[in-house]
Amino acid sequence: MNIHEYQAKALLRDYGLPVSRGIPAFTVDEAVKAAKDMGGPLWVVKSQIHAGGRGKGKFKELPADAKGGVRLAKSVDEVKAFAKEMLGHTLVTVQTGPAGKQVNRLYIEDGSDIARELYLSALVDRATGSVGFVVSTEGGMDIETVAHDTPEKIHTFHVDPAAGYQPYVGRNIAYALGLEGKQIKQAVKLVGDLYRAFVEKDMAMLEINPLIVSKEGDLRVLDAKVNFDSNALFRHPEIVALRDETEEDAKEIEASKYDLAYIALDGTIGCMVNGAGLAMATLDIIQLYGESPANFLDVGGGASEEKVTAAFKIITSDPQVKGILVNIFGGIMKCDIIARGVLAAVTAVGLKVPLVVRLTGTNEELGKQIIRESGLNVIPADNLDDAAQKIVKAVRGA
Ligand code: ADP
Ligand code: MG
Repeated sequence: MNIHEYQAKALLRDYGLPVSRGIPAFTVDEAVKAAKDMGGPLWVVKSQIHAGGRGKGKFKELPADAKGGVRLAKSVDEVKAFAKEMLGHTLVTVQTGPAGKQVNRLYIEDGSDIARELYLSALVDRATGSVGFVVSTEGGMDIETVAHDTPEKIHTFHVDPAAGYQPYVGRNIAYALGLEGKQIKQAVKLVGDLYRAFVEKDMAMLEINPLIVSKEGDLRVLDAKVNFDSNALFRHPEIVALRDETEEDAKEIEASKYDLAYIALDGTIGCMVNGAGLAMATLDIIQLYGESPANFLDVGGGASEEKVTAAFKIITSDPQVKGILVNIFGGIMKCDIIARGVLAAVTAVGLKVPLVVRLTGTNEELGKQIIRESGLNVIPADNLDDAAQKIVKAVRGA
C-alpha cells in the first residue's frame, strides 16, 4: 500500500526526521490559507499523487512548455495561481503512464535553499534477508537512469537484523555520500531514525529523493515515498487510515474485498486462473501467441462460488477486455465450483466477449457438463496450449 508524500513526511517527523514545515490543501482557498499561515518567503506547491517524477511531469490541460507538478512560489499570489493550475488537472509523469493521474490534493511546503541533492532509499533485500540502504550522490533525478548510465555511483549498505542498526552503517553511508563535519553525525541519526520507522511500520520500500544538504549545511528530507507491506497492514490501523482509494485501481479494490489476488495489466485478454504459478504460465503463453493479458488473477485454492462470481464480474467490467480465458487445474479447487461461479456471473452481468474455458482435474466432468448444459457460448479447450491459441484467435476475430 502506498501513501502520499505529505502523509509520509508526517510519519517521518514523528520519528525525529528533519522534514520541512508544510500543510496539505484540498482546495485553492486552503492552499492560500496555508501559504498565509506559513508566512514564506518561499513556498513549494507540490501535487500529491501516488507517483514520482512530478517535478518533471506535465499537465495534460496546460501548454507543453508549462511547468510541472512541483513549483517554487515567491508570493501568496503565485501559490494561488499554481494551486489553480494543479488541482483537478491531470499530471503525466514517467511513473503514471500516458493516462496520468488527477491531482486532488496539494502540499504547501517551506522552500529550501539547496546546496546538494542526494539519493537514499531503504528496502527489504531478499538476497541478504535484511534491510538494505541504497544511496547515491546523484539525487533529484531518476534513479533508474543513474543505475543504467553510472552504476558505480550507487552504493548499498545492509543492517544486520540480529545486531540492529549500528552507527557505523550511518557513517559508511555518510562517507559514500561525501558528507562532512556535522553532516556525518546528522546522517548517523537520520539513517537510524529511518531504520526504526521502516521496521516498526513494516515498510517494504522507503525512498528519499532528494535528501538534501541545505545552504546552511544541514541534511533535510525533501521528498518521501513509502510503500507498506500489505501482509502486515492488519497490525497498523493507523496506516490503513491513510489509504487513498482514489489513487488505486477500482478493480483491484473490489478484488481485495473478496481476498482475490488480482493485478490489473494493460492487455486485452482477461484471465481467471487458480494458483499463482499457473497464472504466470497463462500470462506467458498468451504473450507467446502474440496477445497481452488484461490482468493477473489467482482465485486461490478453496474459493467459493461467490468468490469466483466476483472474480468473473471484475474481469468483465474491464472495457479493455476483448476476450476471457478461464484456466483451471482442479485440485483443492473444484471445477464445478468454477463453472457455477462463471455461470452465476454471466447470468447477472451478461457476456459480450468470447470465452474460452479449460477445466481439468477434480470434478472436471461435472464442471464441463454444467457449462455445456448452460447453453453459454463457450469455446472449450483441452489443454493450456490449445486454450491460449483459441482465445488469441477469438480476440483477433478470426
Ligand atoms: P518528484 O520526485 O515527484 O519530482 P520532489 O519532491 O522530489 O518530487 O520534487 C522535485 C524537485 O523539486 C526536487 O528534486 C527539488 O529540487 C525540488 N523541491 C522539492 N521540494 C522542495 C522544497 N521544499 N524546497 C525547494 N525545492 C524543492
Ligand atoms: Mg522526488
